[in-house]
Amino acid sequence: MRLSKAFIPTIKEVPKDAVDASHVLLLRGGYIRMVGSGIYEMLPLGQRVLRKVTEIIREEMERAGAQEVLMPALLPASYFQETGRWDVYGDVLFRIKDRRGGDYHLGPTHEEIVTDMIRRDLRSYKQLPQILFQIQMKYRDEPRPRAGLMRGREFLMKDAYSFDVSEEKAHESYGTMREAYHRIFQRLGLDYRIVQADSGAIGGDTSAEFQILAQSGEDAIVACTSCDYAANVEVAEASTEGAARPEDAAGEPLERVATPDTKTMEEVVAFFANENVTLQDTIKALVYLVPGEEPQFVMALVRGDRDVNEIKLARYLGTDEVHLASDADVREQLGTSVGYVGPVDTKGMRIVADPEVAAIVDGVAGGGDGHHYRNVNFGRDFDAELASIRTVGDGDCCPRCGAPLRSYRGIEGGHIFVLGTRYSSAMNATFLDESGKARPIVMGCYGIGVTRLMAAAVEQNHDEAGIRWPLPIAPYQVIVMALGKKAEIFAEAEKVYQALAAEGVEVLYDDRKERPGPKFKDAELIGIPLQVRVGRDAADGFAELVERASGQAQKVALDAVVPTILGKLRAGGGR
Ligand code: ATP
Ligand code: MG
Repeated sequence: MRLSKAFIPTIKEVPKDAVDASHVLLLRGGYIRMVGSGIYEMLPLGQRVLRKVTEIIREEMERAGAQEVLMPALLPASYFQETGRWDVYGDVLFRIKDRRGGDYHLGPTHEEIVTDMIRRDLRSYKQLPQILFQIQMKYRDEPRPRAGLMRGREFLMKDAYSFDVSEEKAHESYGTMREAYHRIFQRLGLDYRIVQADSGAIGGDTSAEFQILAQSGEDAIVACTSCDYAANVEVAEASTEGAARPEDAAGEPLERVATPDTKTMEEVVAFFANENVTLQDTIKALVYLVPGEEPQFVMALVRGDRDVNEIKLARYLGTDEVHLASDADVREQLGTSVGYVGPVDTKGMRIVADPEVAAIVDGVAGGGDGHHYRNVNFGRDFDAELASIRTVGDGDCCPRCGAPLRSYRGIEGGHIFVLGTRYSSAMNATFLDESGKARPIVMGCYGIGVTRLMAAAVEQNHDEAGIRWPLPIAPYQVIVMALGKKAEIFAEAEKVYQALAAEGVEVLYDDRKERPGPKFKDAELIGIPLQVRVGRDAADGFAELVERASGQAQKVALDAVVPTILGKLRAGGGR
């Protein structure tokens, strides 16, 4: 493709409202344009990248035995009504009326539709297992679309669904998909971690996220520096180290001390500085309101140096969310201001404590307005239900192997899930087993955010000047640049371009009548992996070969350019 003829509208300035690197660079590089909030179009370069990402995913799905289908994006409400999701999906669902007043919606995900596809025509255990997938636009009216392709309201997803005769077989399909995902993320050249996404409470791996590591990621994850344990902080298990109480710890007598102006844990520690009290000796107490038919107040306790993880707390309490109680509610319930709450006099309030709190010997805890208790001991001075409710992070130990954990930010690129019979039971999708008995099909679902992966790849591969595409997903593998004014330079560059194209190399040719400066800038910005710079040296029979990612440059004889490029493409997985 000749740049003089191509539609690649690059932009010099940083577009308004774009902050994340992927958003800025995909706009500036002429890859995407916004049509409306969270709605984007692919320009020619963007479409080439998307096609490559899609093709890798399709190849690996098919290699794993999955079959491609295409379901409608426009859906009658009846399917979501069957499972109750028409009501619970809320504002995220794009709802539509047709001309007769019938209810429709745009598909945010397709469990119901694929379950219906299977129940129509599948009868016997002999037809199982099946794995179906599609690559299709999804529609979600996200409350906060952000960062271009990262969180859109229309976005391309690969969604796959597995159907099996039993829970055990469903886990086999899950394992197959998990392997396929590894191959996909590796081939895309992404640095990722597979992250436990369920609490693991039922033992075993039934849900995992593929997280692409990036500073701008929305998700907080922790990963072990030694073994392969990694988890979303929403579910990360805390190591039990430090949660054991020394057996011979008798404890000094409980004492209530006036501690004016000590509302934060740090101020408390400073107040007791003479007595060697550290943050680890203090008990942080927070009061939460648990919504429900009968709203309930619950006190959560963690060690002073820790934070309550509200998602873990909510899960333990069997609810979707908890909210910090207001100052007024705390005053009404406990007769104190928020800064002096503690577990000793709670007037019967339910208390949930992290196991580390139970291990504190002679701790310090709030004791009502202007006071703290000294020598507080679990079991003797207060009781509590023990549950892991703290946030795990840097400095914690791995719950599997004990090595240090590290925290990262991540972008959720994919999510795999054993669904069980939730949809098949609700929709009566059954098969006849060997004895002729009808049983619900056991399902799994597996998503990848295709357009999000494109953005994530840029987050991981860029510098100030622009994108540095990994070879397997670059829109073009090579850009040939004619640098200078002389006709001979253009003639030599043209020859190189033609020769590369004849070899089937995906090559862009900057044949524009421009100065070298803007040509360099554009090449860096759009991020083609290999540059062939044909300039003054062409008269002596040489060109310069530059790798965009490393900046490495090498002088190559003009007639050696093609074989050198072909060698690099083979080495980089580009052929
Ligand atoms: P998130 O927590 O980021 O909202 P999700 O849990 O809603 O994701 P799934 O329903 O599991 O996501 O969808 C499968 C994949 O689709 C996700 O792993 C993610 O990569 C991608 N995805 C989800 N929502 C969006 C969106 N609004 N824009 C782009 N990609 C998305
Ligand atoms: Mg979501």
